[in-house]
Amino acid sequence: MFSNNLIASVSVGLIILVVAIIAFLKFTKPGGSKQSTNASKLAGKLRDERVKSDIILNGIDDGVILLDEGQTIQLFNPAAAKITGWTIEEALGINWAAVIKLVNDKGQDYESTLNPFHLVYEQGHAIHDNNANLQSKSGKVISLSLTVSPLLDNSQQISGAIAVLRDVTKERKEEAQRAEFISTASHEMRTPVAAIEGYLALALNDRVSSIDSRARGYLDKAHESTQHLGKLFQDLLTSAKAEDGRLTSHPVVVEVGEFLQGLTNDLKFAAEKKGMIVEFTVGNGLTVDARAGDNKVVKPLYYSVADPDRMREVITNLFDNAVKYSEKGRITIGLTGDDKVVQFFIKDTGHGIPAEDIPHLFQKFYRVDNSNTRTIGGTGLGLFISRKIVELYGGRIWVESEVGKGSTFYINLPRISTQKAEELKKNEAAETQLKPITTLTQT
Ligand code: ADP
Repeated sequence: MFSNNLIASVSVGLIILVVAIIAFLKFTKPGGSKQSTNASKLAGKLRDERVKSDIILNGIDDGVILLDEGQTIQLFNPAAAKITGWTIEEALGINWAAVIKLVNDKGQDYESTLNPFHLVYEQGHAIHDNNANLQSKSGKVISLSLTVSPLLDNSQQISGAIAVLRDVTKERKEEAQRAEFISTASHEMRTPVAAIEGYLALALNDRVSSIDSRARGYLDKAHESTQHLGKLFQDLLTSAKAEDGRLTSHPVVVEVGEFLQGLTNDLKFAAEKKGMIVEFTVGNGLTVDARAGDNKVVKPLYYSVADPDRMREVITNLFDNAVKYSEKGRITIGLTGDDKVVQFFIKDTGHGIPAEDIPHLFQKFYRVDNSNTRTIGGTGLGLFISRKIVELYGGRIWVESEVGKGSTFYINLPRISTQKAEELKKNEAAETQLKPITTLTQT
């Protein structure tokens, strides 16, 4: 995991120093109030600050690039020169685009809509990118972790930007090797576990085996643990694939309302077994009892493009968590949205999640450490996988929660109009006639 926080704090520190330098330069312009003792003290102080900032900028291992309002490079520290292969003299005074060539994993140039150097001037807030690659002057591709922050003047207008870049080639290689190992190991281990699970199921089946009740009790426990192990290997495999982009996905047009209603009906039994109530709401709080079916209500149509199997994985995981981390109460699956977004949520009245855990919840292997979770089994991979899948379709997942009251997990997916959905569905149907299995390229 790369140290985003470190990069963020270095960025903030550097921004303060750069602002101090700019203030110093303005302050020492001819015609300034040189006579004032206070002012000269301040000037001395700022000069000291500048010396300090020079020491930092020349000494640190992170590349620092300062751009002005016209996107021209005004500062280029030695680490930036080392990473990009451009000398300081060559880089100063020219547009960043001549020096910073960002490419994706396939070696294609970044589109301007994804390029943090473009985005920062458009959006006016810091842009982080941990998956960027840079093509150096000699053509070598370097893995980068990058933060580009805007510099705002007194009237909150963008007066420039500061980029902090770190060469993470070694870390990314190690991460890829780790993922490869986990992926191979879990794949290999899944096969014998599946065989054990199968034989245990046969041993527990009255029609093929006769066992006494004590043996049944032991085998039941063994079966449960094997299922848990099988799920762990499956999750490990899925998370490794999600990380290196090998997760298969066949996005098609999905009417999220119908999809969620069907899924709620399939999932509700696990919750009802625990005495919980399950409900499904569409639009502005219109509630449909999961048992009543959906034919009595006129619903808006919420279309999106996603792989239904992958989305089923996400919702099943959120629903299972809602059941797992609640003693009793109610689970609401809800759907709403506007013309751009389809939003759905899974709300429970369970244990809730402490505020300090929420920022880490979607990271790999993260589990809240308290007496509840210690007794409830889990891998800490479900939410990580869910986030990866949602992001695959340009969506966002987040949680709002209060300890003792419950949690609501939200997912936003890009919405497509009914007209566009009909067009895409026609294309899908035409493709199905040509090929037995179809995939719809996401637009
Ligand atoms: P797992 O459930 O296998 O531990 P997840 O990635 O699905 O892994 O969830 C991560 C952690 O988030 C859980 O360990 C739990 O502490 C917390 N969590 C997830 N969903 C809920 C929920 N609905 N209510 C309370 N805590 C939750």
